[in-house]
Amino acid sequence: MVFIPVNKPFLGEEEIDAVAEVLRSGYVTDKSGAGPKVREFEEKFASFVGAKHAVAVNSGTAGLHASLLAIDLKHGDEVLLPSFTFLATAEAVVLAGGVPKFIDISLETYTIDPDEIRRNISEKTKAIIPVHLYGLPCEMDAIMEIAEDHGLYVIEDAAQAHGAEYKGKRIGGIGHLTVFSFYATKNMTTGEGGMITTNDDELAEKLRMIRTHGEIEPYKPIMLGHNYHMPEILAAIGIVQLKRLPEFIDKRSKNAAHMSSLLKEVDQLILPEVPKHMKHAWYLYTVRLQDNVAEKRGKLLKFLNENEIGAAAYYSTPIHKTPFYSKYPRGKLDNTMKASKSVLSLPIHPLVTEKDVEYICSKVKAFFGE
Ligand SMILES: *Cc1c(COP(=O)(O)O)cnc(C)c1O
Repeated sequence: MVFIPVNKPFLGEEEIDAVAEVLRSGYVTDKSGAGPKVREFEEKFASFVGAKHAVAVNSGTAGLHASLLAIDLKHGDEVLLPSFTFLATAEAVVLAGGVPKFIDISLETYTIDPDEIRRNISEKTKAIIPVHLYGLPCEMDAIMEIAEDHGLYVIEDAAQAHGAEYKGKRIGGIGHLTVFSFYATKNMTTGEGGMITTNDDELAEKLRMIRTHGEIEPYKPIMLGHNYHMPEILAAIGIVQLKRLPEFIDKRSKNAAHMSSLLKEVDQLILPEVPKHMKHAWYLYTVRLQDNVAEKRGKLLKFLNENEIGAAAYYSTPIHKTPFYSKYPRGKLDNTMKASKSVLSLPIHPLVTEKDVEYICSKVKAFFGE
């Protein structure tokens, strides 16, 4: 048995040819950040998600940071976000001079709880960053309504949610700004990379300036920016990966359904449920151990890892419990704490075969003595 990682890039000859073509052309980047491959990737990505604009950057973290600069976040402005997410979501807020305020999640979906958002809004609140965790969309109608009531921006962290849908609409065209990541393990990859989508012309124009030193034209910055250019080589890989994405998601969905059918009789586990009005992108297949067996998670992880299964706990340390971020404000985080102690993700990426799914489930059952 070869080790089955929890996620793995799926790259082939077409990506290799696309890279070779860029290298042969000698046009590896553009001083504006928008070379021909980048522009093609942006157009195709915008059209895929159903947004007016897409702005390519060199990481998801850069995309989040640029988005917060684009909404003119001021020093001390609060941004509401979950603690149950990857560090970069909070990091971008601090980089932009803001204050992350950690909000609890729903235990059914692991995404930010709209009622908790409402409870934690204050004069200082400027934006909300819902995170479509594991590839499942947040409750966007409720979140957009709250944002409208209070004049807040919504920046969706869709780093794990390429191809996910909410009420028949792809994630990427709902909030004011949506940020995707193309890091190696994500549903589609360029190695490192990111994309911001928006329907707002002004925000798109600002993002393009921020991506290239705040310049409105060469050597004429009108705001603070950065070098967030995506190189042409990466855009060329992205164009191929985007074309293959629906096939990737399809395979992930099939593996997830298969896994759920095999694990449904394991009483010790709570399986992931997809609300009817959402389409999951299945970045991770995440189960939760029932309260009475939650303390066995470490043993289960170890057992699966020893059996060549790359099961992992995302996120066993919520951000507010890390040394650097513990000083920031928060609402109640009971569900976050509970989830962080009891979740576990199993491999379902497109290179996982039906046999692998059967093997993984047989080991989970063996652990619980079935
Ligand atoms: C991966 C990820 C990011 C960061 O993306 P990078 O491209 O690695 O910078 C941000 N948020 C979430 C939820 C992620 O999973």
